[in-house]
Amino acid sequence: MSHLILENISKTFRGTEVLTDVKLQVGIGEFICLLGPSGSGKSTILRLIGGFEQPDVGYILLDGEQIQDQPPNKRNIGFVFQDYALFPHMTVEENIAFGLKCKKIDKQQMQERIRFVLNLVGLTGLEKRYAKQLSGGQQQRVTIARVVALHPSVLLLDEPLSNLDAKLRRQIRLELRALQKKLGTTTIMVTHDQEEAMTMGDRIAVLQNGVIQQFGTPLELYNHPVNLFVAGFLGDPP
Ligand code: ADP
Ligand code: MG
Repeated sequence: MSHLILENISKTFRGTEVLTDVKLQVGIGEFICLLGPSGSGKSTILRLIGGFEQPDVGYILLDGEQIQDQPPNKRNIGFVFQDYALFPHMTVEENIAFGLKCKKIDKQQMQERIRFVLNLVGLTGLEKRYAKQLSGGQQQRVTIARVVALHPSVLLLDEPLSNLDAKLRRQIRLELRALQKKLGTTTIMVTHDQEEAMTMGDRIAVLQNGVIQQFGTPLELYNHPVNLFVAGFLGDPP
């Protein structure tokens, strides 16, 4: 059974249809990339899955249960936004603890989870550092650690690396992929970077004007693009 299913989703903003009949079936533990140019509807898909928007038409199923009408805090879905959005005046551990307190995790478990996730992202020792004192790469690692600490069933990443320079982006790409493999968390990452999608995704959904043009493995897309848009949008083979 698929872990997460989007069934015939359509969404209109102010009379403009921004998603048309979007279908996606994601297996447990898969790393999916949503790839498409700016304005193609990638973030809207994530916001629908996260519960920050509701579809006009269609269903979202998580473990077989319809969730499209549930509020975000009932969905157990973790979201990393494009900007870091840490609390700058809080320490690293306070930033991670914030969400755990909202979920009423007890103090001892909280300490254990903080230790575990900081070790995962290689930031052990920086617990007491203020977020605003960290480098961009460190801040992004904390945003990922903070979400992972909540044990989400699905992890949604909206262009999480786009604010980093090219070298750091490549490094964090590898770290993120290794981390995801280790945890086995079903993950959907939005990107407009072909190379990023081709190197990270188990499967890639290519989006154009709110329509999924193709959904397949990097090799399938590269070897058998269904149309010129997909062919033109992909970079070098993985
Ligand atoms: P992407 O993430 O691929 O750049 P988005 O999902 O952010 O694309 O946006 C898709 C389209 O929907 C864009 O034309 C955008 O202007 C429009 N859009 C997104 N959110 C809203 C909103 N809340 N109200 C009106 N239009 C929106
Ligand atoms: Mg976007």
